Amino acid sequence: MTSARAYPPSQFVILVHGGAGDVPAERRALHAEGCLRAAEAGAAVLKSGGAALDAVEAAVRVLEDDPLFNAGTGACLNEDGLIELDASIMDGTGRAGAVAAMPPFKNAISIARAALEDGRHVMYAAHGAARFAMQKGFERATVEALRTDAAFQRWKELRDGRASEKGWAGGTVGAVARDLHGHVAAATSTGGMMDKAAGRVGDSPLIGAGNFADDATGACSTTGHGEAFIRTVFAARARVDSLAADLERMTARTAGRGGAIFVAPDGSAAWARNTASMSYALVSDTTAESGS
Ligand code: ASP
Repeated sequence: MTSARAYPPSQFVILVHGGAGDVPAERRALHAEGCLRAAEAGAAVLKSGGAALDAVEAAVRVLEDDPLFNAGTGACLNEDGLIELDASIMDGTGRAGAVAAMPPFKNAISIARAALEDGRHVMYAAHGAARFAMQKGFERATVEALRTDAAFQRWKELRDGRASEKGWAGGTVGAVARDLHGHVAAATSTGGMMDKAAGRVGDSPLIGAGNFADDATGACSTTGHGEAFIRTVFAARARVDSLAADLERMTARTAGRGGAIFVAPDGSAAWARNTASMSYALVSDTTAESGS
């Protein structure tokens, strides 16, 4: 069930994903539309000469605010019914910021960005991440403010044993971009896996696993079984011209599945998945398209 697409070089490009998984067929168009809105927000930054780093943050904020996706508003719930957020952002010069297992905040990606700008540490976890965020002026959110009815229903079904991971819809979000100045950046944000253990950290906040950017090789954001992406250090090792094969190798080695998006320094781009669905959208100086 591997599906992949490659795009030729362009002057600027942003590619976003709204999570690999198995979104019911009748809902896939909605997810693709949400991705396109996010990619357009990022493309507006790139078109006016803005930085790839600003573009990926802008795109991920749109997805975090969209209740359809498992990040920010709509984030999934852990085994205690609570929200613990993972997010990271990196630019091609090597600057990075991340938060892991962080209590509810509306836009975790902007707190990761604040860590990148602050520069003292790359990653903050749990209550230390919340303290860092509040020191930087971010307002703490309640679980109720970010918890959607759909996420709560899904959590209850899993808790009651009425659903297995089979129908799990994913919904992690990510963006990769190349700007007019030739820089790349990547951002990934998620609530993680539904009913995950308290304190579990996935691939999304881990530089090199779920997120990576290097102006020499490109930028990558991943989605799917986080443990598989961690164990294969996926995002740092993937390449634009081998993305589908990189995923297959991960699955052969770990049995985990998922999807990834990639932009190369020349503005070429690719996505690949070996799950039933992965919503995505690409906007460049020549193309705008979305799918799932
Ligand atoms: N990769 C995420 C995690 O393991 C989940 C996802 O992509 O949907 O936390």
